[in-house]
Amino acid sequence: MTDFVVLEKADDVGGTWRANTYPGCACDVPSALYSYSFAPNPEWTRAFATQPEIHAYLRDVSARYGVTGHVRFRTELTRAQWDDALQRWVVETTRGRYTARLLIAGAGPWNEPLVPELPGLLDFPGEVFHSAWWNHDYDLRGKRVAVLGTGASAVQFVPRIQPRVARLDLFQRTAQWVLPKPDHHVPRVERALLRRFPVLQRALRSAEYLGMEALGVGFRHPSVLRAIQVVGRAHLLATVRDPELRRALTPDYTLGCKRLLFSNEYYPALTRPNVLVHPHAVRGVDGSTVIGTDGSRAEVDCIVLATGFRILDMPVAGRVFDASGRSLADHWQGSPSAYLGTAVSGFPNAFLLLGPNLGTGHSSAFMILEAQLAYVMSAVRRIRAAGWSSVDVRPEVQAAYDAEVQAALPTTVYNAGGCSSYYLDANGRNSFSWPWSTGRMRSRIREFDEGAYTVRTGETSTVR
Ligand SMILES: Cc1cc2nc3c(=O)[nH]c(=O)nc-3n(C[C@H](O)[C@H](O)[C@H](O)COP(=O)(O)OP(=O)(O)OC[C@H]3O[C@@H](n4cnc5c(N)ncnc54)[C@H](O)[C@@H]3O)c2cc1C
Repeated sequence: MTDFVVLEKADDVGGTWRANTYPGCACDVPSALYSYSFAPNPEWTRAFATQPEIHAYLRDVSARYGVTGHVRFRTELTRAQWDDALQRWVVETTRGRYTARLLIAGAGPWNEPLVPELPGLLDFPGEVFHSAWWNHDYDLRGKRVAVLGTGASAVQFVPRIQPRVARLDLFQRTAQWVLPKPDHHVPRVERALLRRFPVLQRALRSAEYLGMEALGVGFRHPSVLRAIQVVGRAHLLATVRDPELRRALTPDYTLGCKRLLFSNEYYPALTRPNVLVHPHAVRGVDGSTVIGTDGSRAEVDCIVLATGFRILDMPVAGRVFDASGRSLADHWQGSPSAYLGTAVSGFPNAFLLLGPNLGTGHSSAFMILEAQLAYVMSAVRRIRAAGWSSVDVRPEVQAAYDAEVQAALPTTVYNAGGCSSYYLDANGRNSFSWPWSTGRMRSRIREFDEGAYTVRTGETSTVR
């Protein structure tokens, strides 16, 4: 298919891996798995590739598969509305208007940084940036820096900036489970073998997939994860001598309830004399002083917000409208839901990538995306072959599916682990997690199931 455009508000492909350039940025799923199955890459120089390599890989795949030429860069979607009479999406962008038969929303749950509304932050006289908007022009050497947040990004950049800064005050709302990262340099000879024998590359991917799936069993049976906590505790014990610091870093919920973190350098960095861990969230900022909820204070030159992303209130949901002018965000009322995480009733011919309840705590987003793309492509082929003008998932099908997902979640570690995580939406409902195995995801979301949809015929022109 060639009659499509990709609207991209930035000036390059790569998404997450274009935007996040903070020191130490890398994936936390092994690279043979964190890549497309149809475009294996024998050139990864680390088991867990770093951001520059992942970005280069994505640019290369996009060019090789002829996608880059279809991308309209610096073109932000501002509004898309379904026109029932036209049976088309009317898409408005910062660079003009399009009409389209199909709309595929791949705006990325990790695209929009979450900036906390802290009293006094706007008046802070020093430098402030979010980890996803790293200011490389600001020299951190010799500076007093406050880091707010201890999630996946902070765990990666804190060890990198700690040796450079004069002082680092780390504000930790919740202690995290951090496991050792089985990362290593991939020797040249191993890369040559992977290049020469693609079967080895496939075997590596399968082995990594099975390893992650084995871990995935634990997410559905939290008692298994409680056994893995022994590894987390041993890692903490081996790297942090100070019992008070260790206590502050010890989580009080089941491993896996929040996103699992991997690092060999994070805990050691926190033991250095220029680091102070405040085991509390931040209450506000007063002049150049950051104040914790416990009243602890840190006067700093720079604040780095490692506060995550707007995952379950993605801005794009406020920009996509049904035929009557109601947005997706209005439909959802704070609790995103979609049939198979992909289709929403009232939004014909639209598909969401990495939509609600497809998240896993362990596997690769590429795997989820490929499962969804198989579904979307089979829908497109079916629509085209049958000459349909639109397909709209039936509301009762979507509701039954949603009920099935929600009924399966309470026993998973995401819901039962005793924590508050970004998996929970504004209403306290888990709208992020997939409660079953990824094998089940792949078989369930493999092929377009037209019986679940209301089909409109009457047009036979080619689907565009
Ligand atoms: C630092 C970091 C590390 C991560 N590590 C992992 C990992 O190890 N394993 C894993 O599985 N996942 C990881 N993730 C999640 C990661 O986001 C996904 O794996 C994957 O990259 C998502 O790809 P995507 O194409 O769906 O979204 P993105 O990569 O976010 O791309 C979305 C694109 O849409 C564009 N866009 C958004 N809104 C608009 C608009 N209105 N108009 C036009 N363009 C728009 C954006 O500019 C962006 O280029 C990580 C995320 C972050 C932030």
